[in-house]
Amino acid sequence: MTRAKLSKAQRKELSAKKRERRKNDIENARTEVQKWLGLGGLFSTLELVVLASEKLCIQVNGKIHQNQQIKYIARKIHQSEKPINNVKTKKDFYSSRLWKILRCQAFEKYGNRCACCGADSCDGVKFHVDHIKPRSTNPELELDINNLQVLCEDCNIGKLNQWDTDWRP
Ligand SMILES: [Zn+2]
Repeated sequence: MTRAKLSKAQRKELSAKKRERRKNDIENARTEVQKWLGLGGLFSTLELVVLASEKLCIQVNGKIHQNQQIKYIARKIHQSEKPINNVKTKKDFYSSRLWKILRCQAFEKYGNRCACCGADSCDGVKFHVDHIKPRSTNPELELDINNLQVLCEDCNIGKLNQWDTDWRP
């Protein structure tokens, strides 16, 4: 049957189904990209597009709708399976946009308070976002918000990379 011969109700149903499918495709792509980035928490499609394209070293074309972009990125990830451009050096990592976003999320999630000694911003201390399991031993957790905690400078220096104590309450 050609589309022209469908009744109005049938056409309506068909386009509703199409919309639903498209929505699912985008949702799946979003889930996949976020998982690949190793990010917990809530991210907008645009944020995921920006972060993933940075990691994949691809340019985001501002004229293309983000829903198309996210699907494109999910396909790219499928093809290569591993991040193409892993952040290599320590300096690269801590200056990456991805880390900076995640760092803010950690402060939002855990608050401006040292998870170890309880010092807060009133104490005038400097806070660090610490990897509970260090990047050196668990690089796969470097972008996992559940592997992050807020520590004051003293506690963080005291901890070094030798222990993986989770001080969070
Ligand atoms: Zn402390």
